[in-house]
Order: sequence, then structure tokens, then C-alpha cells
Amino acid sequence: MSKINSAPDHVRFCVRCGTVVSTRLVGDKMRKVCPRCGFVHFTDPKVGVGVLVINENGEVLLVRRTMRPEIGRWSLPAGYLDQGEDPKVTAVREVREETGLCVTIDGLLDVYHNPPEQEGASIFILYRGHVIGGSLMAGDDADAAAFFNLDALPDVAFASTQAAIIALQAAGDRRSQE
Ligand SMILES: [Zn+2]
Repeated sequence: MSKINSAPDHVRFCVRCGTVVSTRLVGDKMRKVCPRCGFVHFTDPKVGVGVLVINENGEVLLVRRTMRPEIGRWSLPAGYLDQGEDPKVTAVREVREETGLCVTIDGLLDVYHNPPEQEGASIFILYRGHVIGGSLMAGDDADAAAFFNLDALPDVAFASTQAAIIALQAAGDRRSQE
């Protein structure tokens, strides 16, 4: 069973009219519902966006996190998508803020579903990109930013980052065998 609670206890009042909400079955899940105006509180997934940046030496760009979750571990430059934002624009901005580098997006790499017990984004959109300017300098919620050889990686955070790097390593192994 999923650990995700579709009717969280901290949702106590209707955001539309302020009435105390009740817990009811809506479709296939229990939800917090307003008995007065009928508003249904949906627990939306948190969406993260990031960029896999590989340099001319085949090294991957990683940042060391200063924020929860996974503080002190390394991840791909990434951030949360805010409502109304184009995920590509957010991804480019997060790379610039965390690494000082300007990148351009080359395409979509994958969309990951992180396990519910992991904090952070439950859906992670990962783009491929390459550097077009700027200079490498950690910033925002990263205290280090560097390119790493795939054979000499630091302690990597998040199931999605690990999966992306394993796929990259497998692709590299296939190329070296050809
Ligand atoms: Zn209401």
C-alpha cells in the first residue's frame, strides 16, 4: 500500500470558505471535503525538474546540497516547479543558480517517479542539456558544484539521480564495447 495519505490530518479548513472539512470517499480515495461548499482537497504530487549536463570529457555536473532532503549529498542541479512555470525555463534557471553555468536544453531524458517514502519531488522531469556560458561556481542551495567522471562519483542523492547515472554508465559501457 502507498504511504501517501490522500486525506491528510493537517488539512482542517476549506481553503475556499473556511468551514471545517470532513473526510469522505471521493472516487477511489478518501479526501478532505468541505460540507458547505463542496470543495475537494486534492493532494497534488510535488514536481521537480533538473538537467543532466555532460561536458566534453564525458563528466557529469553535480551539486552538493545544503538543503533538506539529502543534505550533504550530491545531486543533479534541480529544483521544484512552481505553478505557472515552464519546466524547461525552471530547469535552466536552477542550473544557473546552483552552478553558475548557463545551459541550453537539448531534450527530455526521462520522467521519474520517486518512492513516496523519499522526501522531495515525487515526479522528477530530467532534461539533457549542455553548457553555453557562465563559469562554474556553487550558489543558491548548493555549497559545491563540479563535473565528475562516471567512474569516480561522490555520494549521490535521490533514486532518480542514481537511476539517471546508472543509465549513463550503461550507455558508456555499450559504446566502449563497440
Ligand atoms: Zn468550503
